[in-house]
Amino acid sequence: MLQLASGPMPAAETCAACGGALHHSFFVLHGGTERFCAACMQSRPRCSGCGAPVGQQHWRLHDSRVLCARCHLVAVYDPAEAATIFAATVASVEQQLGLKLRVGVAFRLVDVPTMTQLRAEGGVASDALQVMGLYQRQGALRMISVLYGLPRLAFRTTVAHEYAHAWQTENCPLLEDDLLREGFAEWVAYHHLRFLGCSRAAEDMRTSSHPYQPMFESVLAIEGQRGIAGVIAHLLAVGRGL
Ligand SMILES: [Zn+2]
Ligand SMILES: [Zn+2]
Ligand SMILES: [Zn+2]
Repeated sequence: MLQLASGPMPAAETCAACGGALHHSFFVLHGGTERFCAACMQSRPRCSGCGAPVGQQHWRLHDSRVLCARCHLVAVYDPAEAATIFAATVASVEQQLGLKLRVGVAFRLVDVPTMTQLRAEGGVASDALQVMGLYQRQGALRMISVLYGLPRLAFRTTVAHEYAHAWQTENCPLLEDDLLREGFAEWVAYHHLRFLGCSRAAEDMRTSSHPYQPMFESVLAIEGQRGIAGVIAHLLAVGRGL
C-alpha cells in the first residue's frame, strides 16, 4: 500500500499530516498524491478510509476508527443516505452488467463490533482481515451489511462487491472456489468504478496488494478473451457444475 519515494525535493514540500518540511524522502499512499514524513508514518493514527496518517483535524468514530478530514467530508454516516446510495449502486450494477436478483437483498449500516459479531455467527474467524461489507443468507433472509463511515466511493465498491456475492448465491449454487468468488466480486466492483467514471480508482485496484488481487486479474484475463458477457457465462457454467 505504501511507496517510498526519494530524490530532489522542492523547497516548499511539506508533510500533509504535520506540515513539517520534507527532507530527502517522503511517503505517498498507493493511488494518492499527498506526501508524508517518516515520523508521521510511524507515530500518527491512520485513517480507516484511506490509510493515511491523520493530521491535527480528524474524527474518531464511536467504534474507535479514525477518519482524516478528507475522508470525513465524503463519509456515509446516515442510514437513510446509505440506503439511497445502496439502491443506486444496485441499480447501476443491474443495468451495467445485467446481474439481477429474483429475491431482493436487505441492507443495513453497521459498526465494527456488529460486523465482528455477524462474521463470528457466520463462522468467519474474527482475526481475519477487517471487512467493510458482508453478505449473509440465513434461511429466507438475505442481508448485505456495510460499515458506517466509509468514504462514498468505498461504500459503493463495497456494496457492488457484496451484491456480486448475493448474485452468486442465487445463480451459481455450485460455485465453491473461494478465489473465483472473490475475484469475480472484485471485478464487479472494478466495473462499477468505471461505470461511475472513476477510471483512476479502477486502475488502482489492479496495482494494489489486495489478497484477492491475483484472482481479480484472472477474471480480467477472461474478460480480455471473452468479453463481459463471457465472464458472466463462465461464472454461470462453473456455478452450475457444467
Ligand atoms: Zn509529518
Ligand atoms: Zn482518509
Ligand atoms: Zn467478498
